[in-house]
Amino acid sequence: MDQIRVIFILGTGHCGSTLLDLLLGSHSKMLGIGEVERMEQTPKCTCGYALRHCNFWSELYLESFLRSLRLFRKPLDFIFGNQNYLTRRGKHSWKPLKDRQQFIKDNLLFYKTICNKSGKEIIVDSSKNIDRAELLAAEEAMDVFLVHIVRDGRAVTWSYMKKYNKALFYAYSWLTYYIKITLLKKRTTAGYIRVEYEDLVKKPELELKRILNALGYEFEPSMMEFRSQNNHQVGGNDMRFHKTVEIREDRDWIERMPLRYKILFKFFAFLKKSRYSDGKR
Ligand SMILES: [Zn+2]
Repeated sequence: MDQIRVIFILGTGHCGSTLLDLLLGSHSKMLGIGEVERMEQTPKCTCGYALRHCNFWSELYLESFLRSLRLFRKPLDFIFGNQNYLTRRGKHSWKPLKDRQQFIKDNLLFYKTICNKSGKEIIVDSSKNIDRAELLAAEEAMDVFLVHIVRDGRAVTWSYMKKYNKALFYAYSWLTYYIKITLLKKRTTAGYIRVEYEDLVKKPELELKRILNALGYEFEPSMMEFRSQNNHQVGGNDMRFHKTVEIREDRDWIERMPLRYKILFKFFAFLKKSRYSDGKR
């Protein structure tokens, strides 16, 4: 049986994953599907239609298996590699996952269905769920590649401060996410590449070539016109709906972030540099 090829984009919130999903999804062999796990929360597709009316998702959206795509583990279960997964119950609560094999089957069926429907070779999923990526990467039927996008922790935290005013909580989340990634890299056999958001926005073509090279594909100049493709990303940042193809770094935090937070997050940036200056580029 042919393996199902999926690129999982991993990273914290506000790390540039939506941009990367749009860029990769504009390759002729790839299908960017966005943050598909959050499909129900943001029921509008980048094609401009509500999911129920989009010609790509309308049949799939109503399928019950889409509701079972999400799962996660508590931090200690993740650290020790325990299989105690939790899955969604209703909108805001979680319950233990009883049938792991059925969950895996549902996910395989989901990817296979959209692969067949789109005729593309690789699916790009930017849900950024480390637990699901690890679980599915262990399946023989899957060929998983992890693209980890890293952004300066100060910029990420500033994005959250503006939106939710909970700076410390998100600085903590940012740091724990990178601890989880470090463990995942040690445990998985999936391919892995790291991308710095700041590099991607400064030299998008160069960074895309590097990623595509790791995947065994050629860069296509049309990828830079990523808005003109017939995209069907769901979930994710509202920049999905912008019209411009100009790629520009959001440096708002440098001017507007209070000094005390800048000093505090310098510490997080230091951790990032020391943790990720390991030559794996
Ligand atoms: Zn659509």
